[in-house]
Amino acid sequence: MSPPHGSIALVRSEPSVLHLDLDAFFAAVEQRDKPSLRGKPVVVGGLGPRGVVATASYEAREFGVRSAMPTAQARARCPHAAYLTPRTAAYRAVSDVVMNTLRELSPVIEPLSLDEAFVDLAAASLADLSTAHVEALGALIRRSIKQHTGLTASVGAGTSKLIAKVASEAAKPDGLLVVAPGEETALLHPLPVRALPGVGPVTAAHLARLAVHTIGDLAALPADEVVRSLGDAHGRSLAELAQARDDRAVSTERESKSISVEDTFDNDITNPALLAAIVTRMAEQVASRLTATSLSARTITLKARLHDFTTLTRSATLPGPTDNVRDITRLASQLLADLDTRNGIRLMGVGVSGITDWVQYDLFAADPEPNPEDSGVSSHSAEPASTEASVASASDTDHAGALGGSGPHWAPGKDVVHAEHGRGWIWGSGLGRVTVRFETADTLPGPIHTFRADDPALKPTTPSS
Ligand SMILES: [Mg+2]
Repeated sequence: MSPPHGSIALVRSEPSVLHLDLDAFFAAVEQRDKPSLRGKPVVVGGLGPRGVVATASYEAREFGVRSAMPTAQARARCPHAAYLTPRTAAYRAVSDVVMNTLRELSPVIEPLSLDEAFVDLAAASLADLSTAHVEALGALIRRSIKQHTGLTASVGAGTSKLIAKVASEAAKPDGLLVVAPGEETALLHPLPVRALPGVGPVTAAHLARLAVHTIGDLAALPADEVVRSLGDAHGRSLAELAQARDDRAVSTERESKSISVEDTFDNDITNPALLAAIVTRMAEQVASRLTATSLSARTITLKARLHDFTTLTRSATLPGPTDNVRDITRLASQLLADLDTRNGIRLMGVGVSGITDWVQYDLFAADPEPNPEDSGVSSHSAEPASTEASVASASDTDHAGALGGSGPHWAPGKDVVHAEHGRGWIWGSGLGRVTVRFETADTLPGPIHTFRADDPALKPTTPSS
């Protein structure tokens, strides 16, 4: 059976909540598997015209590239970075290893996304949860993950989820911070209010008008003043968090929480365009309720009652939570497209579940298919000496007719295998050609070769594990 839901202690006297977060996850996996990119700026995300950065390597962050930034803006700030399409299968394989490592530690873990989870150490059969022992445990987990995945993780621990999460953030990259009981507010109060869950740009602007900039400022404000400014529920919970009072349980499931809208129609609807418009509107309503409450969700569900009163539900789960209206709308629309609606629909609903109160920006996962307008990398000449450090960005002129009519789409970053040269990855494509760098996690940085895009010797492949 699955582990028990929920958690043990309400107010903890020991640093028994642990939060683990891999460093620059997607970019780190790319650097692991592509030796020529180690130590270089790497940006993983949507590469199309409306693409968004999922993860930037620390080298790219030095140029101001951030998660959730439009990829076009990232290209402007860091044109020489490698811009890569996400390889979800590779990330998922790493995630499985990480989550299994954590499950060996405690039956109660709460994954927040592919690379991030809370662990309730109080649910484990550990005799000693002293600060020193939790520190040793954190170091052990970090070593184990490094050994099994080749990646670095940062770990934080403390007496609550808030403190554990803030501690792992403070420890980044490649660090460990266990906050001893009694030290919580010393860590928390100097931080900007944005470090609290539920404080987005709008709330931060409200608070700035009260001259509240740090969590300490907020803690110094009388709670009823916070409530007057932010409303009862939101104000009260933030006032509590600012005092480091956080009794949220580490929960293995979040299924109890969901948001949905549905509507029964006067007449059965058969018109596909009308159904699509209704689903789009419902998805927008759900997304706006998520953003209004600073929540994100991983699972999008479509509910449909057919003319014969059969009720169907279809759902899709993302690797990470999203509150992005475009992603939610697109997934709901895809679920609708897979439904047979020819005989009419009498009720339609859109909902989200798997809700978390930490907004993640790993939104790319809703967009696993490469954008057909996106020809990827512009350079198609094999001159590795002059282009060593860069996977150049696609210029507009390279989009036209870049790919020829046949053959698979060669998205930058994807794994390929060549009959003669072996395994490699797509460095770029355009004008009927595709350039491949032949290297893997276990080789030295490898050579670049260019082929015709329809070369039968070149095939897409899955990530090696
Ligand atoms: Mg991470």
